[in-house]
Amino acid sequence: MRNPQSGSEFSLSHLLDDIRDHVRPAFGRGRVADYIPELARVDPRKFGMAVVTLDGEEVGTGDCDEPFSLQSITKLFALILALNRGGDEIWTRVGKEPSGTAFNHLAILEAEQGAPRNPFVNAGALAVTDYLMGRSADVAGLMAGLVRVSGGISGGQVNEAVALSEQATAHQNRAIAHILKVHGTIDHAPDAVVDAYCRQCALEFSVRDLARAALPLAASGFSPFSRETIMPARLARRVNAVMMTCGMYESTGSFAYRVGLPAKSGVGGGIVAVAPGRGAVAVWSPELDRVGNSLVGTIALELFVQNAGWSVL
Ligand code: GLU
Repeated sequence: MRNPQSGSEFSLSHLLDDIRDHVRPAFGRGRVADYIPELARVDPRKFGMAVVTLDGEEVGTGDCDEPFSLQSITKLFALILALNRGGDEIWTRVGKEPSGTAFNHLAILEAEQGAPRNPFVNAGALAVTDYLMGRSADVAGLMAGLVRVSGGISGGQVNEAVALSEQATAHQNRAIAHILKVHGTIDHAPDAVVDAYCRQCALEFSVRDLARAALPLAASGFSPFSRETIMPARLARRVNAVMMTCGMYESTGSFAYRVGLPAKSGVGGGIVAVAPGRGAVAVWSPELDRVGNSLVGTIALELFVQNAGWSVL
């Protein structure tokens, strides 16, 4: 693999192609999420990766233009919307500490009187969705709008089959939402919140779209594509902090150790990572590791930061 220090041959485009070839032996070691039946239909060998930089470079490899299910990656955009809407108000409902437990853990929520540890575990994400429902009846639409304006793109949509499939099987999330309701953490009816959350999770964009949409987090909140301020610089920094400490389920520590970038993953097999001041990188590979992060995607990001020197640590 080429290294930035080792010569003039280095280019991000070559690097991504090298990574695509390099990760191939790891296919088959993870498992596609099947607890949402419709997600199990995806081809496990899909692989796409895209990078955008503040210098205006944009490169992609593999299936980088194929839309996939964002799932928990939408929690990142939900948090941005909530912070933009009410500033610190969202922190009265949701904490900002790592949970160290599975994303859909229930017992800890009960023990802590319905106060979710952070906005990226399901309990916290449901509370954020509920908060956004106070602003719009179409939370998924609101989120898609943010992705589009941040990334200067026009595509992306809710995959209705995936949304229905999760709504029909979301028993754990419904249990979480009811606990939230018991403790007054959400305003709306628990089932309505879960249904809106499932639609939001079923949003589909490509990794190229995703890397573009995350670029404002690397650029003090500014989108070079739409030339709009998506969020104030201090919010971008805070969102990056929450990603760094809570973005990768209960592997957040080992992900920081291996990759060293703020990142958010989803059970659709996507991961988006941000290098403040440099750029954003997104990867998609549907086979997941034991905690629900893309197995090949994590390896790809590890190779990327080693070779591009992008780690913030
Ligand atoms: N919709 C999924 C769920 O709530 C998202 C999980 C994830 O991507 O982490 O189970």
